[in-house]
Amino acid sequence: MALSTPVYLDNHATTRCDPRVVEAMVPYFSTHFGNAASRTHVFGRVAEEAVDKARAQLARAIGAATDKEIVLTSGATESDNLAIKGAAHMYRGKGDHLITVCTEHKAVLDAHHALEREGFRVTFLPVQTNGLLDLDVLREAITEHTILVSVMAVNNEIGVVQPLAEIGRLCKDKGVLFFCDAAQAIGKIALDVEKMGIDLLAFTAHKMYGPKGIGALWVRRKNPRVRLEPLFHGGGHERGLRSGTLAVPLIVAFGEAAEIATREMPEESMRIAALRQRLWDGLRANLDQVHLNGDWQARSPGNLNASFAYVEGESLLMGISDIAVSSGSACTSASLEPSYVLKALGVHDELAHTSIRFGIGRFNTEEEIDYAITRVTETVNRLREMSPLWEMVQEGIDLRTVNWTGH
Ligand SMILES: *Cc1c(COP(=O)(O)O)cnc(C)c1O
Repeated sequence: MALSTPVYLDNHATTRCDPRVVEAMVPYFSTHFGNAASRTHVFGRVAEEAVDKARAQLARAIGAATDKEIVLTSGATESDNLAIKGAAHMYRGKGDHLITVCTEHKAVLDAHHALEREGFRVTFLPVQTNGLLDLDVLREAITEHTILVSVMAVNNEIGVVQPLAEIGRLCKDKGVLFFCDAAQAIGKIALDVEKMGIDLLAFTAHKMYGPKGIGALWVRRKNPRVRLEPLFHGGGHERGLRSGTLAVPLIVAFGEAAEIATREMPEESMRIAALRQRLWDGLRANLDQVHLNGDWQARSPGNLNASFAYVEGESLLMGISDIAVSSGSACTSASLEPSYVLKALGVHDELAHTSIRFGIGRFNTEEEIDYAITRVTETVNRLREMSPLWEMVQEGIDLRTVNWTGH
């Protein structure tokens, strides 16, 4: 098959909807269009059955004991907010302290900032240079006032996988709830809410080859029974936790995406890990001074985040404009601040600015990886040839010893 460009390697931002998923959802737009809450007639009942099936598919994907624990939402952002604000408000009488990690997704961080403005106290834990949470640091942060610990499964920038089972055990020992944002984890790593001692788990369809605008929050019903204050009030859908007419076509698609992810993960994660290895080996064989960001072992198979020293970040991205990737310098935002995730790892600003996040997914091929290796190599070499700093480095000059002012 001929290579077609641009090549999509940004599967952490979103994924292409799997054609099997699209096929499953289409009949629910116009043939089976009923409202899943209309139990008095067959239109409603057909919709309700489809939603129930999807709920079971979702529960199976995360090892949940029953599908009654799945609350359908508009995506992981809403699920994150429902979990964090919902738990904080419900358990306010028990304590006013929350713990999370400074490399979490913005939805998690900003939900905590909102709670701080309400008077809650939040500890934002640092990470080690490999991006992983130090369990001793977490243990020491938990106090008798702590009600919730929020740690993501797979980081959306650097792909590192946090030690979930250990965190779950620690939270259980201390009697605090454990919320996990697993948006980047479903279908990528083995995830089991029972084995990992997770109490609340957020996920979203569009990161797992489903459509945008549908997500879920799994809420533990036993040992302990977790209660939440809802964000939305209304018709009392989703056991009162999320009012609003269910988006039946999207839910059907989400369920199908979850089933495919569960079934195909063993084979797919190996294939994707091999593509990632090919990319990393290729880049390192061709180029010096390429730095890996985040731990290599505890990492989601499709993620490679690397910095290319002595090139200018924006020029690098422009040079590989036919490859869709994302960069560690937030050129999209108004500021030129480098990624807060890379900063938290202690990556210097210059290196953070030249970092690229490659997100390999289900539909990528070896040809595409080879193309990416070639394009990145050419561009980095070209940019370095124009760089006086690179020339000095090649001549063996230690840049730290240079007196730039000329005195
Ligand atoms: C994408 C993502 C989100 C946001 O999910 P939406 O469904 O787009 O709201 C939250 N957390 C993580 C880790 C993500 O990768």
